[in-house]
Amino acid sequence: MKLGIVGLPNVGKSTLFNAITNAGAQSANYPFCTIEPNVGIVAVPDKRLDKLAEMYHPQKYTPATIEFVDIAGLVKGASKGEGLGNKFLANIREVDAIIHVVRCFVNDDIVHVDGSIDPARDIDTINVELILSDLEVLERRIDKTKKMIKADKKYQEELDFFLRVKEALDNGKPARSVECTEDETALLATVNLLTNKPILYAANMSEDDFKNGIHDNPYLKVVEDIAKQEHAGVLPICAEIEAEISGLELEEKELFLADMGLTESGLDRLIQASYSLLGLISYLTAGEPEVRAWTITKGTKAPQAAGKIHSDFERGFIRAEVVAYNDLISCGSMNTAKEKGLVRSEGKDYVMQDGDVVLFRFNV
Ligand code: GDP
Repeated sequence: MKLGIVGLPNVGKSTLFNAITNAGAQSANYPFCTIEPNVGIVAVPDKRLDKLAEMYHPQKYTPATIEFVDIAGLVKGASKGEGLGNKFLANIREVDAIIHVVRCFVNDDIVHVDGSIDPARDIDTINVELILSDLEVLERRIDKTKKMIKADKKYQEELDFFLRVKEALDNGKPARSVECTEDETALLATVNLLTNKPILYAANMSEDDFKNGIHDNPYLKVVEDIAKQEHAGVLPICAEIEAEISGLELEEKELFLADMGLTESGLDRLIQASYSLLGLISYLTAGEPEVRAWTITKGTKAPQAAGKIHSDFERGFIRAEVVAYNDLISCGSMNTAKEKGLVRSEGKDYVMQDGDVVLFRFNV
């Protein structure tokens, strides 16, 4: 899973990105690397995996990971290819979801490119660039669909739908705001529009707002209202705090957070929110060699989930031995869970659940 961090200059993108990569580099347990200066991989925090590790004392501990890309350099006119604009848009096209950092903190020492704090205008500035780029892509598709109608009238329905999306874009609305049926959602997914990607607005607030109560910040409501219209998510965050705690050991970090009345770091919330934004869940595998979390989309069936581990597992799938995480933990061991009949044998139509602890049986 790849998440792109976007936003205007001086809103806190690099502060957040550095906090993410620092936090990743600090946790010795987790695989972490920086592929390029603007790309970092972090583990998805999952307490269930820690518990399984206590049970199995595995040689290897492998959490799920997320890749963050800091996509800096957006300026007005990006869609016309000015500055780094084109590269910026191409980078966004490759990510699974967008984290749009919006400045909700006031600080006269840090200039805002447009002179004032105005989240609605900032969101609009970026959305306009993405929408203009999407219009080009969609218009090409519309032309193609028109040609197809000449050969087969059945494409008229597709054309009507694309024209409806175009109308939304023409009115400055992102494609994700268009109400779609299931079929239309699938059709829209074939166009790869930037404004159809899932998006999370990270409302970047001051340390004081975080201490005093985030809802006193007047800008948060503005961001929340926009997000609601667009079917987007909102995550209040303070990039400065994240940067401060990113280098701390776990215990120190917990003390620092508790002091502020918080239980979880913003990064953990960010990762979890991204996971749910993308409709992802994890299933777990556990044994002495390794405990591991595997990322799948909600609704994935057992053979396809097995295919995440190895394509042979999917091809030769026989069945899955499944126990719910909570059942396993309350039993204290796999053997007890088996004795109590809580380990189920599931076939190829089984829909995987978040937190399933699984052993796949397969033919090679
Ligand atoms: P970018 O251009 O979007 O990458 O912005 P930076 O991350 O470089 O941040 C610009 C400035 O804003 C830096 O001086 C940061 O220290 C400051 N800044 C970032 N996040 C916050 C925040 O949450 N609160 C406050 N008060 N300042 C912040």
